[in-house]
Parts: sequence; structure tokens; C-alpha cells
Amino acid sequence: MSKDPIIIAGAGIGGLSAAACLLRAGQEVVVLEQAPVLGEVGAGIQISANAARVYDHLGLLADIEDRGAVPESYRFRMFDDGEVLQSIPLGEGYRARHGVPYVTIHRADLHAALVQAVRALDRDAVRLGVTVTGFEQDNSGVTIHLEGGETLRGAALIGADGIRSAVRRQILGDTPAEYTGDTAWRVIVPAEALPEEYRTRDVDIWVGPRRHAVTYPLRGGNLVNFVGCVEHEGLEDESWTTPRPWQEMHDDFQGWHPMIAALIDRADKGACYRWALRLRPPVSRWTEGRGTLMGDAAHPTLPYMAQGAAMAVEDAAVLARALEAEGGDIAPALALFEQARLPRTTRIVTESSANRHLFHEPDRDRLRASFAARDMNAERSAWLFSYDPLSAPLDSVA
Ligand SMILES: Cc1cc2nc3c(=O)[nH]c(=O)nc-3n(C[C@H](O)[C@H](O)[C@H](O)COP(=O)(O)OP(=O)(O)OC[C@H]3O[C@@H](n4cnc5c(N)ncnc54)[C@H](O)[C@@H]3O)c2cc1C
Repeated sequence: MSKDPIIIAGAGIGGLSAAACLLRAGQEVVVLEQAPVLGEVGAGIQISANAARVYDHLGLLADIEDRGAVPESYRFRMFDDGEVLQSIPLGEGYRARHGVPYVTIHRADLHAALVQAVRALDRDAVRLGVTVTGFEQDNSGVTIHLEGGETLRGAALIGADGIRSAVRRQILGDTPAEYTGDTAWRVIVPAEALPEEYRTRDVDIWVGPRRHAVTYPLRGGNLVNFVGCVEHEGLEDESWTTPRPWQEMHDDFQGWHPMIAALIDRADKGACYRWALRLRPPVSRWTEGRGTLMGDAAHPTLPYMAQGAAMAVEDAAVLARALEAEGGDIAPALALFEQARLPRTTRIVTESSANRHLFHEPDRDRLRASFAARDMNAERSAWLFSYDPLSAPLDSVA
């Protein structure tokens, strides 16, 4: 490992996972986060086996499982009558097959577990209210420029600064994130506010004309998470913190299954948030010498395989392994990291976008036929869930 600290821009799920993996491997790190307080948005997140293996490696999985829920199945369902089009078993069968569970968790709980893990390894590793504006590099390290004029010296800079990444802009130039035409509503409803039959134990993807919804349990089933993805042409980026009128969400899912209607009905009407989903096409490189990218900064994706954060967590583990493999020699290690991550992340980003067409098919017969023609369980088990970022060859393909 390198003697100087590795600087990580961004304390999201990606940046904190990288910090924990690197610290655990004996590398000093400094995480710079622009926000004055640590936190995550009020929404759920799914953790599949490929990411759960990294949390297990960090000693966090039992805590994450305790704070979250372990759903029984992952189902694709018709938007109105709830017909099950495909079902992937989760629960104990999934754990037996993959060695780790499939967990759904409140983002704030996952983020808190990661912060705790990083601070247990180095209580001063995270610095808040610090915005990275750019960097320079020479043969011995990087100089990071911060808002306000301060500079900081380190061995490398990892841009884990999300979809609006400043580090990406410097490495790749302007690569605008374009609105995909889809928006995502996100609300959480207490299970006790719902009729018994809708206090779900499953991850359900409700597919229908030009929109889909995702529902799953959080906090041991005490909360139900709802995500509603709707095609809306011509919307500009929206604030992630300004509530939208509840009526708009209600109108977007008019005529949908009674469970969706019940969730929307019981949502806190003053706290309905809608995200404009933005995307950049995959790139063929994201590293420059001692600077690299990870997570949404490197490979932003549509959330239609629930893999954005999972890829960031995989990146974290592979980055630490690449540094170890190169004996702390930064530039070859970052090149190895990029080479190991490009094919797989490109595949996930591409398949996530393709799911938009699969999920939003307006004709119900064609929708049913598309699902009948595939075995999603076999597909995902074969390459997505079975990937182990802790042992996959570093010259690996997708
Ligand atoms: C509706 C929806 C549902 C999703 N569901 C799932 C799911 O179920 N499973 C899954 O795996 N993924 C899911 N995702 C994707 C996942 O949320 C993202 O891929 C993941 O959060 C990206 O993490 P990150 O750490 O790379 O970036 P971010 O979470 O964006 O974190 C970036 C951090 O960097 C900070 N920052 C930004 N700029 C600077 C700067 N210049 N200097 C310092 N700090 C800076 C930010 O404040 C932030 O804290 C979903 C996404 C959406 C929109």
C-alpha cells in the first residue's frame, strides 16, 4: 500500500465503501464530503449477493441484515391484476445458493453502518463540508484543490462524487448527464398503515405501459418502500429535496393494482419526491495516472436492475485489491482497477437501460410474452449475483 493517504471525493455509499476497503487493507485514506452533515435520501435500497459479499468482508453484513429485511422473492408482476410473470426465489434459498442474503434496507441505515465502519477504522478519516474542485498530479502524488482555495496532498484521487462529479469533468471533460425521459417517485409507508395483505415480504417489480413500480419491505417489514418510474418527456432536472404534489403521483398510477393504490393513498402527502433520472453513456476509460472514478461518477446507470450502488461497492473491493496486487504502485493499480471494472459495469449499465423497454411495454400480451421467453433467475444468477469482487480475476470479463 502507498505511504501517503489516498483521497476520496464523496462520502456516499461508494466513497465510504472504498474508504472501508482501503483502510482494512492498511491504506491511509481521507474522505472529503461537500455536505456539512453525513446522510442519505429517505428511500430504500436493494443489496444483492455481489455487493453483500463486500459488506460481509467488511464485517457489516450481520448489522445490515439486522437493520434491513430479507425478502422471500423477487417477482415481476402485471401492473393491474398483479399476475406473477416471473419469480426469483430470495430468502434462505438465495442465501444457500450465494452464501450471503439478498437484503433490502433504508439508505440512511446502510449509510450509518458504513460511516460507523469507516470511523471504527480511522475516526478522523471523513472530513465534512469540503468540496473538491480539481486536482493536479506529478510523479510523487496529487494536489487536490478545494473550494475556498485550500489544497491537500495525497497519493491518488478517487472521484466517488456521484453523477455530477467534478473529478470526472476534469478527467473526461464535459460529458453531460442527459435526462432519460424517466422520473422516479420515492416514498416510504409504515406497514401498519396498510391492509395486512400489502405488508409485503417480497420485492415486486410491477410492470406496465410506459411506467413501472417497485415495492419492498424495510426495517424488518415495518416499512414498505415504493419507487414509481414514469416516462415524462421534456422534464428538466428536478430538485431532490422539494416535494411534488401528491396528486401527480396518484394520477401517474391511476388504474394500477390495489396495493399500489394503497401505498400511494397512505403516503405522506407533504413528502412525495420525484427524481428526474439522468444518464451518461458508458465510456471506455475513466482513469488518468493517479486519478480515477468509481460508482455513479464512473458509470451512472438507470436503477432498472437495482445495481448502481452494488457496482460502487464492487468497485471499492476491486480498487483495494488492485492496489494490493501492484504493491501500492498507484498508476498501474488504477489502470488495473479500470481494466477489471469496465466490461462488467458497461454490461450492467446497458442491460439496465434495456430493461426500460422490457418493463414499459404498452401491450400486455407482448409484455407477458417477453417475460415468458426469459428466465431472469438463471440469467441473473449466472453472472450478476454470482460475481465475487473479492476473488474475481482482476483481468476479468463481465
Ligand atoms: C430511484 C433509484 C433507486 C435505486 N435503487 C438502487 C438499488 O436498489 N440498489 C442499488 O445498488 N442501487 C440503486 N440505485 C443507485 C444508487 O442509488 C446509486 O448508484 C448510488 O447511490 C451511487 O453511489 P455513489 O457513492 O457513487 O454516489 P452518490 O450517492 O451520489 O454520492 C456522491 C457523494 O459525493 C458528494 N460530492 C459530490 N460532489 C462532491 C465534491 N465536488 N466534493 C466532495 N464531495 C462531493 C455528494 O455530496 C455525495 O455524498 C438507485 C437509484 C435511484 C435513483
